[in-house]
Amino acid sequence: MSMKSAPAFSPTLDESLLASVAAPSVRTTIERSMGSYELTREEALHALQATGTDVPALMFAASTLRDRGKGQTVTYSRKVFIPLTNLCRDKCGYCTFAKAPNHPDAKTMTPEEVLSVACAGREQGCKEALFSLGEKPEERYALARTHLRNLGYTATVSYLADMCELVFRETGLIPHANCGVLSRDELELLREHNGWMGIMLESTSHRLLERGQAHFGCVGKVPETRLETMATAGELGIAFTTGMLIGIGETLEERIDTLFAIKELHQRSGNIQEVIIQNFRVKPDIRMRDRSEPSVLDMVRTIAVARLILGPDMNIQAPPNLTPDAYQTYLYAGINDWGGISPVTKDHINPERSWPLVGELREVSAEAGFTLRERLCLYPEFLTQPAFVRPTLAPRMHALAAADGLVTEDLTRE
Ligand code: SF4
Repeated sequence: MSMKSAPAFSPTLDESLLASVAAPSVRTTIERSMGSYELTREEALHALQATGTDVPALMFAASTLRDRGKGQTVTYSRKVFIPLTNLCRDKCGYCTFAKAPNHPDAKTMTPEEVLSVACAGREQGCKEALFSLGEKPEERYALARTHLRNLGYTATVSYLADMCELVFRETGLIPHANCGVLSRDELELLREHNGWMGIMLESTSHRLLERGQAHFGCVGKVPETRLETMATAGELGIAFTTGMLIGIGETLEERIDTLFAIKELHQRSGNIQEVIIQNFRVKPDIRMRDRSEPSVLDMVRTIAVARLILGPDMNIQAPPNLTPDAYQTYLYAGINDWGGISPVTKDHINPERSWPLVGELREVSAEAGFTLRERLCLYPEFLTQPAFVRPTLAPRMHALAAADGLVTEDLTRE
């Protein structure tokens, strides 16, 4: 892909562009979102169904809002993924990561295996270790209880807490656990050695918990419990990443409800530092293998509406490896982050979709007019708030950060 600079966006919405918007409801939505007016659900729903030339106008409005809060810098995090256990009490219809106990690949990593992956990441210039794992598998499977007992534990969360501490102590990588619903005690246990934590809200739809739907049989996917985990984390000063998975059977109304739930949560708890908009991809071994995938247009409209709802200051991410031929377009829909990129490990959640190289990401971003920068696990606006920075991790994070809170450019590798 050729390198060329693109013209900067205008900071205000061009009147002639606005006049070209055909649907009055979409025009109203754009006009209002460009001011300080907060969109209603109905306005957001109309925007999510934009067609024709209304779509680029919607994207322009979202991009302009993003520029207002984030400029034209797009970030990524260089990390290793540590799949601590692929056993899980839930059975999501789109999941290929979780394995049944009788599957030959069902596994819980040993401390030696954890350290080996972390060390490989450190050698490749990673700053972060993302522990991605199944949710409380010991509640469902004897095999998970046996794995834990052999390691000297009775609960996955306790083992995870010790592995986070081990990785930080031995490698300096900053741990980040993504392990599902957690109680206050469990959050407190993990807090000391986690730079931030993550839980995808995915959808607030209760319908998706019904038989035949994506979250049937998943006790951890009750939306209120996921929202409560994040709200409690806010009280404990833990920054969280969350997000929405689109194309799993939700209606457009439910999609809007999910975005508003995230917005309202952040207004209350103040600890949501990033919102991921992720597209469902079919895999041959999942329950939902016959479902259709969301189109790029669907992603673009959803990202743009998410930006209009969540405002200029929220970090909005879309994974590049799930739309390899068109992810550049997401920059024009209002994202400002590409998420975690690993030079060492595959995407364990979407193993068939390899990460782009950082050099490619830099080139694709530059062609669209954006500067790529490496970020830490904590975004700059959270790094400057002592309540969100653990004393144990603070010296390491500040040593890696430049004055603007992103990773010092000397420490960035292609
Ligand atoms: S998506 Fe997460 S919670 Fe659902 S089955 Fe897979 S690992 Fe478990």
